[in-house]
Amino acid sequence: MIHEPERRQQLVDSCRMLYERGLITGSAGNVSIRLAEDCYLTTPSGLCKGFLKVDDLVVVNGAGQRLAGRHQPSSEYDMHSAIYAVRPDVEAIVHAHPPNATACSVAGRSLATPILTETILTIGEIAMAPVALPGTAEVAASLQGLIAKHDAIVLAHHGAVTCGPDLASAYQRMEVLEHTAHIYWIATMLGGAKALPDLTVEQLLAKKLAHPVSTLTLPSTCNKAPRPYNKRFSAHISKDQAPLTDELLEALVASVLQEVKVKCTESRR
Ligand SMILES: [Zn+2]
Repeated sequence: MIHEPERRQQLVDSCRMLYERGLITGSAGNVSIRLAEDCYLTTPSGLCKGFLKVDDLVVVNGAGQRLAGRHQPSSEYDMHSAIYAVRPDVEAIVHAHPPNATACSVAGRSLATPILTETILTIGEIAMAPVALPGTAEVAASLQGLIAKHDAIVLAHHGAVTCGPDLASAYQRMEVLEHTAHIYWIATMLGGAKALPDLTVEQLLAKKLAHPVSTLTLPSTCNKAPRPYNKRFSAHISKDQAPLTDELLEALVASVLQEVKVKCTESRR
């Protein structure tokens, strides 16, 4: 049994990992964990998820109404509600904007073709939902018909959502989805991605069903130094992080540009 403080730490760790790996940027992305019957822990709206603290998280009910926490819950929580409602086996959900997977949807390329053994073992088939307006009920509606049978869904021209029986599984599926899209893209440049044989796919799917839970341990995998650009960005974020407004973002960009300008001037001397 994992207690709430540990779940809060796992959720914050997973958000930092998503940010460090470039799977989310700015204030994008949202993650949630089921805490109890009709009670979920989720990320707040408007904050940069790479620098969240455990007390930034929000507790909501199944309808997305805030039960505890000082921030507003994610504006995309409807999508999480829709998945929890259909999938009682799902304990955690990750929504991110993985660049390669999203680019495939922008180019009208489906990732449903089974090309990698690891993808079948970890995810199964990757689905794609039609275009929907972010932050509205359209997103949840676009997932209907796909949620029941898929653990990873690309949201056309937007991002992706993954789910699992624990947070490590949902997180790992997002990483594997993005890695799959990256390999698909390289294979496409090399002449085209070829599907795995049907029999191999059936054997891999049977193995996935027998071992649905990830062996990934979230906290121990994120004890690495942040990427340089995130380190610089973090210097501009105060300890009690304020919502990432347009004004704050503009100030941050201006500040970083100023740093670059100074460095360029110094190197010319
Ligand atoms: Zn999004």
